[in-house]
Amino acid sequence: MSTTNVPELFGSMVFNDAVMKERLPKDVYKKLKKTMHEGTAIDADVAAVVATAMKDWAISKGATHYTHWFQPMTGITAEKHDSFITPTDDGHVMMEFSGKELIKGEPDASSFPSGGLRATFEARGYTAWDPTSYAFVKDGSLYIPTAFCSYTGQILDKKTPLLRSMDAISTQACRILKLFGKDVKRVTTTVGPEQEYFLIDREDYAKRKDLIFTGRTLFGAMPPKGQEMDDHYFGALRPRVAAFMQDLDEELWKLGILSKTKHNEVAPCQHEMAPIFSTTNIATDHNQLTMEVMRTVAQKHGFTCLLHEKPFEGVNGSGKHNNWSISTDAGENLLEPGKNPGKNAQFLLFLTAVVKAVDEYQDLLRISVASAGNDHRLGANEAPPAIISMFIGDELQGILDAIESGADYTDVDKTKMNLGAAVLPAIPKDTTDRNRTSPFAFTGNKFEFRSLGSSVNIACANIMLNTAVADELRQFADELEGAEDFNAALMALIKREIKAHKRIIFNGNGYDESWVVEAEKRGLLNFKSAADAFPHYVDQKNLDLFAKHNVYTAEEIHSRMETQLEEYNKILHIEAMTMSDMVREEITPACIAFEGELAGTINGKKAAGVSGGMEAGLLSKVSELTEELYAKNTALDEAIAAAPSGDNIETAHYYHNTVIAAMDAVRAPADKLEGLVGKKFWPFPTYSDILFYV
Ligand code: ADP
Ligand code: MG
Repeated sequence: MSTTNVPELFGSMVFNDAVMKERLPKDVYKKLKKTMHEGTAIDADVAAVVATAMKDWAISKGATHYTHWFQPMTGITAEKHDSFITPTDDGHVMMEFSGKELIKGEPDASSFPSGGLRATFEARGYTAWDPTSYAFVKDGSLYIPTAFCSYTGQILDKKTPLLRSMDAISTQACRILKLFGKDVKRVTTTVGPEQEYFLIDREDYAKRKDLIFTGRTLFGAMPPKGQEMDDHYFGALRPRVAAFMQDLDEELWKLGILSKTKHNEVAPCQHEMAPIFSTTNIATDHNQLTMEVMRTVAQKHGFTCLLHEKPFEGVNGSGKHNNWSISTDAGENLLEPGKNPGKNAQFLLFLTAVVKAVDEYQDLLRISVASAGNDHRLGANEAPPAIISMFIGDELQGILDAIESGADYTDVDKTKMNLGAAVLPAIPKDTTDRNRTSPFAFTGNKFEFRSLGSSVNIACANIMLNTAVADELRQFADELEGAEDFNAALMALIKREIKAHKRIIFNGNGYDESWVVEAEKRGLLNFKSAADAFPHYVDQKNLDLFAKHNVYTAEEIHSRMETQLEEYNKILHIEAMTMSDMVREEITPACIAFEGELAGTINGKKAAGVSGGMEAGLLSKVSELTEELYAKNTALDEAIAAAPSGDNIETAHYYHNTVIAAMDAVRAPADKLEGLVGKKFWPFPTYSDILFYV
């Protein structure tokens, strides 16, 4: 039993409000809080005092360095560590940290992807402190959450557009709330991301080049047992995994991360962690940190944590559920249907905005979850389909249907109600929440966007959501602010928009084949791969959306598209090269060695006058498959060599259509060989070894 004092441990490595209050002079503390709440610029004097206080606190927590911590367009997070040391005249050092160093950093940005935004001669990039996210100490360094932009002010990271999208939705939501007589200064979106991951034995991981280089297995026959017994989901935690989880929680708590839920997932070796939700910006920083801490804590326990979307074929992959809602600074959840009927018109208006946003920006939501890894999940009968649709449940559906047809709505208690804005029925918390096949489900007082891959930065999905909903709210506010009869205009608007966008609502089974046909009839998009999705970044309506809300300039969007396409192409290239290497250097030699042993046995038997019929049969089977494997691998090499370069979109389609097909052709004979070649010959651990190690 752990004797940890959790309240004492929680946030102990965070320069949080309590620490600030304790360590900062009153006036400095007040000014800093103003910056945090209202986004006002911080002046140099205040920064200098904060920097010194932060440094002294960090040193008391064992820090010797500081780092501006940021989220470049690809990869997880970036950091460069500088020590606090400053030489003194007498040959000693002092520990110093200035306000300037706190506010602004200047990492050489030339090696970060910019999608053509910055020429290498303009290598300068700036990191700027984000005072809305607390600094923290980890591994001997003071981490300062920052935004990252180029010398010319173009954004190069994921935090800046996220903060901008949060401003956009706040501005527009406040306009709407004003129409309902509420004077609200700030509205924030909140997110609780549920994180799935695999834990495998570190020794197995180290023996597989595919896991090391690509994060997923490129070969592997299904073991006799997979996940069909459903014996892993919510199953008892194995002691070694339980110890990892306990340690993980403690590390996360120290960093102020509200880790709440832990359990086994569907696939063997698969697990999940869910935190209590927080402001989107913080939730994003914390999710990035969580993934990193998962990896390092796993190492300590002799595991490797796999965050890839599809580490193993044949068992479930890993995703991330982005639970999203909107609330006022006073804590009113705007997606809470509530018991007070008077409030429901407001709820229905926000709901309508989300419905319209998801319908009009299906493409952006799909893009926000597109990646080489997630291509293996979306639409593959485990994750939500690649088609974006919404689930709202029977109760809300009934209400929307009634509004649309102008009929009376009969609620579950069979009470008849007229749907005037003032007497809308109270909407009970949804009870059919368990439609796990929907990409975007209403779950009582929030939406759960389920298409995200396990390794993705959640900033992307939330930038899209916030901005799209902000724009719908803007349109609604424009229309309603001028209305003579607010209630009548409101109901007319809801009715009109639900009618126009109800095609996006689908309460049925998203895994069903018939849904693909039905969705096509409804005119919904179905981008089967990331290569199909990314080019729509720059559709005019999307450029207009982001420009209107100052989230991205057209140039910045182009650069995101290029960066993500490049990343996609590189990943597929590395996977293909790794596969080819493993065939040539490991699998083929293993097969040859096995063939040699068989041939020797056959000859030995012959010499002894015993027939070797079985061995001969096996030898010819292995020999045929090895020939096939080698031929397919040569074809794969040729496909890799023939990859076009120059146009990232063309290259992406090529990798998706041609190279992946060539890889599938290599894998088929290799997986068959795994079942024939003697275990002691096979060059790396198999699925049976890895997934069922206890
Ligand atoms: P589930 O049934 O999916 O387990 P939970 O109620 O446990 O649902 O919530 C899952 C996640 O949703 C948690 O991270 C939780 O903190 C988060 N969540 C709950 N309310 C909100 C909200 N208003 N905004 C954002 N996330 C929320
Ligand atoms: Mg959930």
